[in-house]
Amino acid sequence: MTETHTYVLSGYSGTPTTATVTIQSFDRPERMRRALKGLGKFWAFAVGSVFIPVAHFLLVPAFSLFGAYTFFERLGARQVVTTAEGTCPDCGRTQQLETGAGGGGRWRVPRDVACRYCQRSLRIS
Ligand SMILES: [Zn+2]
Repeated sequence: MTETHTYVLSGYSGTPTTATVTIQSFDRPERMRRALKGLGKFWAFAVGSVFIPVAHFLLVPAFSLFGAYTFFERLGARQVVTTAEGTCPDCGRTQQLETGAGGGGRWRVPRDVACRYCQRSLRIS
């Protein structure tokens, strides 16, 4: 399920503009599926690393732990941002906002982002 929300994007000066954020919601079975997929991928790497001499002492526990971390992170992620777009109130340029969308993490506001053109910090609220 995907929904679009409009937030206020404010900077240091000028009038605040709006940011359009597309959020994908996952219900319980979907979250479990995503979580298991993440776990399966990293545990497959862990098993694959068993056969690499010496490095396996480090790689096997690292992949196992990261798999577990991904599992719990995804299990709790009810809402994930797919795209966020807004116009910087300070320099007036429309852009994709860096919200960590690729990471698959949770969405919450207020969130601080930086304008990719004038580098000023903006707040989505
Ligand atoms: Zn700017």
